Amino acid sequence: MTDPSVQPSPAEQRAGFLPGVDPDRLPAPTDIALPVLGAKLLTTADGAVARVGDLPADTLWTPVGTLDGVPAWATDLTTADAFPGRARRWTSLAAEVPEPLATLAGRALAVTTWRRTHRWCGACRAELTDQPGEISRRCPDCGMYVPMQLSVAVLTAITRPGRAGRPDELLLVRHATGPTNLWALVAGFVEAGETLEAAVRREIGEEVGLTVDGLAYHGSQPWAISGPGVLLAGFTARAADRHAEPVVDGRELTEARWFGLDALPAELPPAYSISRWLIDATVTAGLR
Ligand SMILES: [Zn+2]
Repeated sequence: MTDPSVQPSPAEQRAGFLPGVDPDRLPAPTDIALPVLGAKLLTTADGAVARVGDLPADTLWTPVGTLDGVPAWATDLTTADAFPGRARRWTSLAAEVPEPLATLAGRALAVTTWRRTHRWCGACRAELTDQPGEISRRCPDCGMYVPMQLSVAVLTAITRPGRAGRPDELLLVRHATGPTNLWALVAGFVEAGETLEAAVRREIGEEVGLTVDGLAYHGSQPWAISGPGVLLAGFTARAADRHAEPVVDGRELTEARWFGLDALPAELPPAYSISRWLIDATVTAGLR
């Protein structure tokens, strides 16, 4: 016999990953389960995505969307006792699983982290309540609405003409924190009141002391390791002065250097990152 509560809605029947919440839908044992433990996601011991039925019946689930029509649920665990699987960082999972699932796992981590860190009203200290059908909360005392906010960061692939008929050159930088051996792109968070384009120009000026022309939007990627809700927006640009050399501040960045597009270093960002997509697209366009 079929339980009417687990029939997929029209939205659920669409392919791919869709964020969203159907307030009337209840978790079913075969639905996708994304248990979160601290900053990590739990998969089964052999690395497969868990199912709701793998966890205890009294687990509290938060709907995070659907993947190819299958509802997906996140839960915030305080110990691994309820589900002794493999704890993975999002970067480790994203390097392995196909794209829609990587994004869904990132959303589960972001939503769970946001719910854990936004429990109380910042104005009157009352405990916030969930808004039915939304990933958002409201204060029952003063009425303040608390949506899940995204932080937006920009990153830019800056090129300049190569010398003496050589291919174009790409500016790559090394950061003082995080994976310090990687050659990455100039990046930074957008400030309140700033456009994406203004943030790109400011960050490039602050981090490497350059100005750019021909700024063009390339694409975006949700990113799940810098706290809840980060959206990366990628751009390409040309150095305004082809002879200008980058100057790093020594605090955020330790090195900045021009590399010929046919001679990039091996230590580049991982294949699932928009940093790498931008670098690869720049190489493809520049060496055509
Ligand atoms: Zn309040």
